[in-house]
Amino acid sequence: MAEATPLYDSYSRAPLRFERGEGVWLIAENGERYLDFAAGVAVNSLGHSHPHLVETLKAQAEKLWHTSNLYEAPGQERLASRLVANTFADKVFFTNSGAEAIECAIKTARRYHFHKGHPEKFHIITFDGAFHGRTTATIAAGGNEKYIEGFGPKAPGFDKVPFGDLDAVKAAITEATAGILIEPVQGEGGVRPVDPEFLRALRTICDDHGLLLLLDEVQSGVGRTGRLFAHEWAGITPDIMGIAKGIGGGFPFGACLATEEAASGMVAGTHGSTYGGNPLAMAVGNAVLDVVLGDGFLEHVNDMSLVFRQGLESLKDRYPDEIVEVRGQGLLLGIKAKRPVADLIKAVRAEHMLGVGAGDNVMRLVPPLTVTADEIREGLARIERALDHLKAAA
Ligand SMILES: *Cc1c(COP(=O)(O)O)cnc(C)c1O
Repeated sequence: MAEATPLYDSYSRAPLRFERGEGVWLIAENGERYLDFAAGVAVNSLGHSHPHLVETLKAQAEKLWHTSNLYEAPGQERLASRLVANTFADKVFFTNSGAEAIECAIKTARRYHFHKGHPEKFHIITFDGAFHGRTTATIAAGGNEKYIEGFGPKAPGFDKVPFGDLDAVKAAITEATAGILIEPVQGEGGVRPVDPEFLRALRTICDDHGLLLLLDEVQSGVGRTGRLFAHEWAGITPDIMGIAKGIGGGFPFGACLATEEAASGMVAGTHGSTYGGNPLAMAVGNAVLDVVLGDGFLEHVNDMSLVFRQGLESLKDRYPDEIVEVRGQGLLLGIKAKRPVADLIKAVRAEHMLGVGAGDNVMRLVPPLTVTADEIREGLARIERALDHLKAAA
């Protein structure tokens, strides 16, 4: 299959062909079962084939698929009001992906200042190691040269500063600054949690300078870190937030949440999406919230995080030549490898377990939030076998 493919060559795919999923397991065409701690890059928040999601999607599929945003949208209103009731936000715009959620966040921030009579304020301060998506604006926001190279002039208005450097943030603020955009936990960048103290300082800086705080919780949101949203750990709220991944549980959609004030520039005709907030997506999003907002769900995530984290730390103690560090929060965890992380991921895959690569030589471990303690112990045993094989081969 690897040679002549009708697909773009822009992905380097692992030679696995999956056909079915059940909870934390993926089953390949040849019948082999894989323990899925990649979860479609932190997307399958409730695992594969969750009965409530399957039932909901089937029922919606028999009623209505799509109407566009020409008409009122009861599914959007229901999901938006539940998001509003459980967050800082007053207003929600639905998108089809994470990158579009961040695009909307950027547009909302710029438009806010325009609306207030300051069209010159369109610069957004961003951080080293960030990832915000693959559109032309979000690659500029992420600032990773690998993703920018060859795609024409980099979209203007993004000022990158070193990760965690408050003085650099202050120095980067000018008359043209609209806001600050940050992931509370960098996912793609190497599972790097931002110090809660730093997030609180950014909130203060934004308040002092009339800037908007934009959070990218596309990966860290919807229960992934053990709170509904990761910024809750720092006790602050943003003005604007992009979400996606976990909210769809595998159905592709995202959302941009904002306070009434931050969204005040987004008047009729300023933004739109043909599919955004499609009835199928909204039905699934509401079903995901039924589960994630249910009694004890976040407590379960925190309990599982503890089990997993302790197990990983113990592996680090026993394999100091292989594991440099265990990082992350909740069930957004990572292990920084000594050898090239691709080798570790491959060795883990040979044990029929899936992890995801990230920056800084890290393997991300982002199981479905419904994972059980037994499944985590199974995962730890497989990682340990992989480490033994690597050690024996070295
Ligand atoms: C995945 C991700 C995105 C992009 O989401 P897509 O759905 O791939 O467009 C943006 N920001 C963060 C933090 C992500 O993890």
